[in-house]
Amino acid sequence: MDIGGRRQSSNIEDRRGMRPVRTGVGLSLGGVLFLVVLSLLGINPLPFLGVATQAPEVQMQEAEQPYQESAQEAKLREMTAVVLADTEETWNTILPRYGVEYVEPTLVLFSGAVQSACGAAESAMGPFYCPLDQKVYIDMSFYDDLSSRFGAPGDFAQAYVVAHEVGHHVQNLMGIAKQVHEAQQRVSRTQANEISVRMELQADCFAGVWAKNAAQSRQLLEAGDVEEGLRAASAIGDDRLQKKAQGYVVPDAFTHGSSEQRVRWFRRGLEAGTPEACDTFAAQEL
Ligand SMILES: [Zn+2]
Repeated sequence: MDIGGRRQSSNIEDRRGMRPVRTGVGLSLGGVLFLVVLSLLGINPLPFLGVATQAPEVQMQEAEQPYQESAQEAKLREMTAVVLADTEETWNTILPRYGVEYVEPTLVLFSGAVQSACGAAESAMGPFYCPLDQKVYIDMSFYDDLSSRFGAPGDFAQAYVVAHEVGHHVQNLMGIAKQVHEAQQRVSRTQANEISVRMELQADCFAGVWAKNAAQSRQLLEAGDVEEGLRAASAIGDDRLQKKAQGYVVPDAFTHGSSEQRVRWFRRGLEAGTPEACDTFAAQEL
């Protein structure tokens, strides 16, 4: 990508170097997920609330000194801020056409562990979006994982990750996330999982919509960037992730879609450049 001299988003919250400390009793992210799984299974989660709330609440403690970043980390932070700014340009332009005002999300940089409104999370879980506080959470060490563990190096592979998480924010603003969660309450676990896959593939497609706009309106992309993004989409498909983790794949447990599906939807968004191309919920075949 050609990021030199471009605007960096100011919607970045730097929590690197801060450590979560236990301060009391509350819901951990694990506890929240446990309750969500129960309700997906059709089990009333309320009686289990006590179990889940036994997890200690984690609060972030201010670092005593500002985080000292390396030159390499500074470069990654700048790239992340430029990509975030470019997603702001894109969605500020596109969403009003659908009668939706784009509320810019905050991107939280963290190291090791972080507390979100959706609960506490660790770097190992990968980047995520919390709809409750409308923030994207990224530990930039994931960029290293992309390159070294998943074979997807390059700044555009990293940009794709940011754009995918912003895609979840767009789903939230468009009311898609709410509809999806309501639908998931009424169906079996397998069906709820399939809905999750459609949701993830739509975020991939929205990342493609961003890439098209970044290329067309602001010439952000360079030769080879799209290939980097496609490699990342393919590398972090659930089938590849599961194979890495356990040596075999279990299609029923997919929540992000296969590598092939992720590539297909990213490409679809990239070619069309508009969210209409991203109706994964109406698609017969994913
Ligand atoms: Zn996702």
